[in-house]
Amino acid sequence: MRDTVSLNRVDCSLDRLKLCGIQQILPELLKKAQHEQWSHLQLLDTLLEEEVSRREEKRIKNALRLSGIPYIKTIDQFDFDFQPHLDKQMIMNLFDMTFLSRKENIILLGPPGVGKTHLAVSLAIKACQMGEKISFMTMHELIKKLRADKDKGKTRLRPRYYRASLAVVDEVGYTPISREDCQLFFEFITKRYECSSTVITSNKAFIEWVELFHDPVIVSAILDRLLHHSIIVNIKGQSYRLKDKIVSGIQK
Ligand code: ADP
Ligand code: MG
Repeated sequence: MRDTVSLNRVDCSLDRLKLCGIQQILPELLKKAQHEQWSHLQLLDTLLEEEVSRREEKRIKNALRLSGIPYIKTIDQFDFDFQPHLDKQMIMNLFDMTFLSRKENIILLGPPGVGKTHLAVSLAIKACQMGEKISFMTMHELIKKLRADKDKGKTRLRPRYYRASLAVVDEVGYTPISREDCQLFFEFITKRYECSSTVITSNKAFIEWVELFHDPVIVSAILDRLLHHSIIVNIKGQSYRLKDKIVSGIQK
């Protein structure tokens, strides 16, 4: 009877403290602890571990939802055998994430389908798991946001793409952009320069960026800042999207 009263009170307190993880497993775990004669400390440790891991899971899920990441794919799902020219060790070294503290940028270049977005997504997920703030956008989305924020004028809160310790700009070069938008992109790169890391993916070589951004002066100013502290990954292989067709001989 006394146990039931105490358990009810504990349940109410857990409710008020919003310790849902503990609340869910407590009845079962109490039985287990009694059966296996756990110490009080072992029981407390297990309960708190469960609460911490559930909260962490929830935090990551929420952060990923807000980040703009288009899909969830990790580096474990990347088939390095399909890209034999890609230096696996160099890529895996990126995943120690020390480039973030060095405020370095990563530029992933290569034709469509070689895994640029997959690698950028994997890096963003890892950063997210480490508790870093992420902003993932296509170039098209970024330009739209920059334009909208410019029209709004000075807002009280700095936009997420500036606050993020890792911003990913995917698909630079898929569509040409106007001179005005080039200026906005230049300001974006300048504001992040040496403050936080930016990952860029592009299907165009740097030399082709001149055509894309119209103005050679602004391109050189953008590349100057972008490349000063950067790691460039050039992926030269086949499109993964055509993998099965290549195997079955449809595509040569
Ligand atoms: P890109 O951005 O270079 O155009 P993506 O990263 O979007 O290419 O890749 C296209 C699809 O192929 C995605 O579903 C991606 O997960 C997958 N993919 C690409 N390369 C690999 C790889 N080496 N191993 C596993 N999946 C890959
Ligand atoms: Mg892509």
